[in-house]
Amino acid sequence: MRRLRLMMTSLCAFAALASLAFAQGGSQPSTGNTTWRAVHLMASGREDLPLLKRAIDEGMKPLGVNVVVLEVNYRFEYQSHPELREGGGMNKDDARDLAAFCRDRGIRLIPMFNCLGHQSWAKDTAPLLKKYPQFDETPDVPADNKGIYCRSWCPLHPEVNGVVFALIHELIDAFAADAFHVGMDEVFLIASDQCKRCKGKDPAELFARAVNDLHGHLVGSKKLPMLMWGDRLLDGKSTKYGKWEASENGTAPAIDRVPKDIIMCDWHYELREHYPSVEIFQAKGFRVLPSSWNNPKAALAFLEDARRVNKGLVIGHMGTTWVGLASFCKALLDPKAEVPKTKGRNAGPQGAAEALRVCMKAMRQPSASNQTLPPKGQWTSLIRGKDLSGWTPKIKGFDLGENYMSTFRAEDGMIKVAYDRYPKFEGNFGHLFYKHPFSKYKLRVEYRFVGEQVPGGPGWAFRNSGVMIHCQPPETMGKDQEFPVSIEVQFLGGSGRGTRPTGNVCTPGTNIVMDGKLITQHCIESKSKTFDGDQWVTV
Ligand SMILES: [Zn+2]
Repeated sequence: MRRLRLMMTSLCAFAALASLAFAQGGSQPSTGNTTWRAVHLMASGREDLPLLKRAIDEGMKPLGVNVVVLEVNYRFEYQSHPELREGGGMNKDDARDLAAFCRDRGIRLIPMFNCLGHQSWAKDTAPLLKKYPQFDETPDVPADNKGIYCRSWCPLHPEVNGVVFALIHELIDAFAADAFHVGMDEVFLIASDQCKRCKGKDPAELFARAVNDLHGHLVGSKKLPMLMWGDRLLDGKSTKYGKWEASENGTAPAIDRVPKDIIMCDWHYELREHYPSVEIFQAKGFRVLPSSWNNPKAALAFLEDARRVNKGLVIGHMGTTWVGLASFCKALLDPKAEVPKTKGRNAGPQGAAEALRVCMKAMRQPSASNQTLPPKGQWTSLIRGKDLSGWTPKIKGFDLGENYMSTFRAEDGMIKVAYDRYPKFEGNFGHLFYKHPFSKYKLRVEYRFVGEQVPGGPGWAFRNSGVMIHCQPPETMGKDQEFPVSIEVQFLGGSGRGTRPTGNVCTPGTNIVMDGKLITQHCIESKSKTFDGDQWVTV
């Protein structure tokens, strides 16, 4: 193969690859084949729960769906604010039960509460602004919402977060959630002249303020990953997305004022040749979850385009539904089911179900640009340099495919393993697995170590990485397994003092035979010289 260049910064442990690969540094890369196989559903009444469970078992699970984002909003029997309940919603026991049902099937259930915007729909105003009209950003808009799209709450009202955070807290608790989606799409009413607090202020500053308040609560206090829709952070003109899928109301500069660990649900529903936002979010350092809707052709085009430009931060794909839960479930269970069409909205529930089928199936295939095995007798590069397609991360404590903190990255024509976003290393050993196994091969790797070790990394893991050969398949690793069973070709960097050879052999979970003798010692040193500093080393 040509050159595999690996650079490890702030390294910690190693990496492995199935069959042949290299990896290293404590975490893994994410790949073009992502991991989040997600669907966004609108919560409805309790009476739909049996149908939802059936659709999960017979529709979603067979497609490989592993994440359900459930938009709850006010359809829940809130205890902290019973005045904000919308009738017929789930109660805490229902939520517990549904979350356990999903968990048993390997599906992560992420609740969602639409924040800031979308506080009304057509003539109906949602409970928050009905019960607390003082939170309304546009109090002069008539009660029937004539002339506007949706109401917003005021991000500067001193009491609004207290109420909203209590609702969010209840949802997190009821669903035993390990992540939360805050919505935030299509906020058109912001910095309104009708609001004495916001009048004349910068819409981007106000939007960023709302995002940062939520982030402080969810990520800062509760330590949960936060998801949001990305449209308000994109410039509608330069991206040519327009004012719906992107912003033409001054909020876009907020993209540089919000934390980079937010997962951006980047929604686009129309067929386009290219979807520039995937690169924009990645360039800013965000993880991206491309989200499509009910046009199967458009959904597939978006999925493939995102895979093509994936630099390791595209975490999967999400199908949205935007119809009643029961209608979608029926359409998913039966492509011929008669379900109400949504006026003027493409193919309705059947379209959303078909788009989800098409996308989830496409995700089982290697990316179109990356389908061939290396030709016999020729060197072939296993890395593309500009993205991580072909590679899948597995980091201890995370699901296969989740590239926590973007530990693995494709930059400057090489794969980098970096722990620079970790506040502290907590045993997050990671490995990057190549998509194909190899049985007869020569592997050439160029690597180097740079930077300081992440705080909390064990002493033995200083400048320590490697290639795991004869490795167990990543799908068979436990979530909390530190290393795959494998034979490691260990790379060590010098510490500047004494000898520290590289190209050693270590044997996580197994043993080797050398010279006819079983060796049970974990690592055996090579006779190589010591490579101090940041120099490139070829193995
Ligand atoms: Zn305001």
